[in-house]
This record gives sequence, C-alpha cells and structure tokens, in this order.
Amino acid sequence: MSTLSPLTLYLAAPRGFCAGVDRAIKIVELALQKWGAPVYVRHEIVHNKFVVDGLRDKGAVFVEELDECPDDRPVIFSAHGVPKAIPAEARRRDMVFVDATCPLVSKVHVEAERHHAEGLQMVMIGHAGHPEVLGTMGQLPQGEVLLVETVADVAGVVPRDPARLAFITQTTLSVDDTAEIVAALQARFPAIIGPAKEDICYATTNRQAAVKAIADRIEALLVIGAPNSSNSRRLVEVGSAAGCAYSQLVMRADEIDWRAIEGARAVGVTAGASAPEVLVDEVVDAFRQRYDLTVELVETALERVEFKVPRVLREA
Ligand code: SF4
Repeated sequence: MSTLSPLTLYLAAPRGFCAGVDRAIKIVELALQKWGAPVYVRHEIVHNKFVVDGLRDKGAVFVEELDECPDDRPVIFSAHGVPKAIPAEARRRDMVFVDATCPLVSKVHVEAERHHAEGLQMVMIGHAGHPEVLGTMGQLPQGEVLLVETVADVAGVVPRDPARLAFITQTTLSVDDTAEIVAALQARFPAIIGPAKEDICYATTNRQAAVKAIADRIEALLVIGAPNSSNSRRLVEVGSAAGCAYSQLVMRADEIDWRAIEGARAVGVTAGASAPEVLVDEVVDAFRQRYDLTVELVETALERVEFKVPRVLREA
C-alpha cells in the first residue's frame, strides 16, 4: 500500500500550444532548414524560455530590434505581430524576412486599417508595452489608436469625435475583464463600433473556460507559462477570480512551491498557449513522485485549428 498522500490532479483541456504558436515555431524551424543558421528572430518568437532556448540551440538568434540583424541573413517576425515600420525597413534594406504574426493578430490589424480607412479613430483594449499592442498600434499613424487598459481608463479617453470611434482588443485578454471595459466604452460612446467577430482568440477563450470548469473542484491551480506570457497570466487571474485561493504561474516543475499546496487533495494544472506539453508532463511527473496520484482530464472544447506556414517555406 502506498505511503504517499492521495491527490487528484485535474488537467484542464484545452491547454498549451495554440495554432498560432505552433505555426510560429514551425516557421523558425523551416527557415533554419531552408537557409541554414543563423536565422534571426525579432523578439522571442513566442513567450516561452524552453521553446526559445530549443530554437537557439538549432541556430536561431533572438534580437529585440531589426538594426541588430545583418542585411544578409533572414529575419523572422514573432507571432505577436510587428508595427508596419518594421517590414518596411526590412524591405528598404533588401532583407529576406518571414512574418510569423498569428493570423488572428493579423485579423485585428486588418480590422484597424479598415476602420481607419473609413475615418474612424480606434480605441484598443490591451496592455501597454506588450509586443502585440505595439504591433497593432503600429499599423496606424500615431494618435489614431487610443489605448485603454482598465475600466477606469475609459473615463480618460479623449477622442477626436466621440461619434466616430471603433474598438479592437489584444487577442490574449481576460474574457470577463474585457467585457466590462467594452461595456464602459459603449456606455460612454454609444456609437462605438466593435469587431464583427471577437478579437480575443479561440485559444485564449477556450483555456480560460477550461480553468473555470475545474475551479470549483480544486484547492490550488498551477498555470505553466512564462511571466511575460499575457494569456498565461490571464489564466492565473481567471483561477483566482473563480475562487481558487492559490493560483500560481510556474515556468517548470522546479518552480512549484510544494509547501504552498501542502494538504491539498485536488490541484488543477493548465498551460498557457506558448507552453509545450513536455512541460505539463514534467509537472505531472513531479506530482507523481510526491503523491499517490490520480489524474483526471477535464476537456471543455476540442480544438482543430491549424494555420499554414507562409508559401516561401512550404517546400522546405
Ligand atoms: S494565443 Fe491566440 S492570437 Fe496568440 S498566437 Fe495563439 S491563437 Fe494566435
């Protein structure tokens, strides 16, 4: 008979890699196959150290700015998207570049441009300084996108014409918090136009719904993800908001604070959209070594989304 304490691990599904992250990683791998090392990548291709280190070992060089890349090596733009000025500069320098922007981020870019062409000013709901926000705001001339991060920010919005506004959002926000900000915008600017189809992506929405589905069965939630991963941090918040007293981000198993979950009989585990499944396996194994473990999968949606890599890399 086992001397270990019993513990049930509720594994949320969907979790981990989304189609946009999967495509971005494939793009770097195929670029390395096609052009050989080094291939430059502007910004972390996805926000996960494990993934970035693995690609670095294969010959990818991660930089923050285009001026750190030589003219004669290919450069890849990350899944978060880039301001328009970046591909324009790459073209000016006659560089080979591949844009790994997630198609769901590109959809928001197109939306912003369409509204701008119709003479509307944009309000973007998002987190200041996040690469996706910088990329999306950088699709339009300065001053054309006003950023709001919270409900309180809505009161401070000073539009050119309150009757000629549209809003867009970052793709990885909290579904519930964003709904509150949208309601505040609509209350203040009744004519504001929203996206035809939700900007928060399917992967973000599904991962948050899966956390809500396990929240009332667990005493602690571990979200596998990086501190700079927006969708992972939102999962921690969703866990807390759903009543989980201990909701914590961990990059890997060695970051688990075992004392914090001592005495718990039911723990939830999920992973942000940029965390590979191998890190989930690592966490499950760590629990198995310490507990008489039962693993239960709680699946709230099936994901079949897949994005093609750009044509230039298909034959690679
Ligand atoms: S989280 Fe959503 S928007 Fe971001 S890369 Fe994944 S699918 Fe695309």
